[in-house]
Parts: sequence; C-alpha cells; structure tokens
Amino acid sequence: MRCGQIKRKLSAFFDHELSESEEIIVDEHLKECEGCQSNMKELGELCDIFVRIPDISVPFYFRTRLMQKINAPTEVSLSFIEKFRRAVLPVAAAMAVILSLVLGNYIGENLYTIFAGSSISENDSVEVLDFALNSFPEGSLSDIYQNVLNGEKSE
Ligand SMILES: [Zn+2]
Repeated sequence: MRCGQIKRKLSAFFDHELSESEEIIVDEHLKECEGCQSNMKELGELCDIFVRIPDISVPFYFRTRLMQKINAPTEVSLSFIEKFRRAVLPVAAAMAVILSLVLGNYIGENLYTIFAGSSISENDSVEVLDFALNSFPEGSLSDIYQNVLNGEKSE
C-alpha cells in the first residue's frame, strides 16, 4: 500500500477498527515509513488533546434544536437570500440617487455651456427648447418632419 492509502486508514488503525490483515499491512508500513510514523504520532497527540478537553454541559433541548436546524435547509437558504436582498437593495437605491444627481448635474452643465455660447437668453426656456428642437440641418429628414408638423411645405 502507498502512503496515501495508509494515511486514510491511520485513524481506523489507531482505534483498532481495521481487519486483521489490514492492521498487519499498516503496521508493517509504519515500521519502514517515517512520514506515516509522523502522521501516526500527530494522530496520537490530537487524541490526547481531545481526551483532556473536559465535558461541557449544553443547554436543555440543545440537541433537539440543533437537529431541527440541521433538518431545515430551505429555511436557512431563504434567510440568506433575504439577508442578501436587504443588504443590496439600499445600496442599489443609494447608487441610483447618486448617479441621477451626477448625471443630472453633468447634463445641466453641458446644456448651459451650449446655450451660454449662443445668442439665446438662458432664461427663456421655451425659446431655447424650441431652438434645440428646430435647429436641424436644412433638407435633413428631421427638418422635413418638422416642416410637415408645422404645416410648412418643403420645396
Ligand atoms: Zn508511508
């Protein structure tokens, strides 16, 4: 047997749970292999630590409640989704508000820059909007469409 196979059997070997033939194989391997001897030594030390840990008393009904939680996986996953939703939605809403403020400011500044350079008064918003909507190049599809809307005949 290789070390990997031996390593998987060490715990059972330690607890004398292997068959007689397996126990002989592991025992023979341990006599020759320092790596597996080291693993066996660690296993023994770990076992000593567990033996020295004092028993602790758990609250009444602990086992019953533990088993209920173990047997209710859907409840756990639902609460995870709920937690995720509660954490993500406020962040998304805050980001949407910030984005709309930044974008609105950006658009407003650009419109101001465009109209500030023209001779149109920035206070006359109706005229500005009219100028913006009717300033298509002559002969363009939008210009023809505007002429049709305004009842003017294009030539
Ligand atoms: Zn080995």
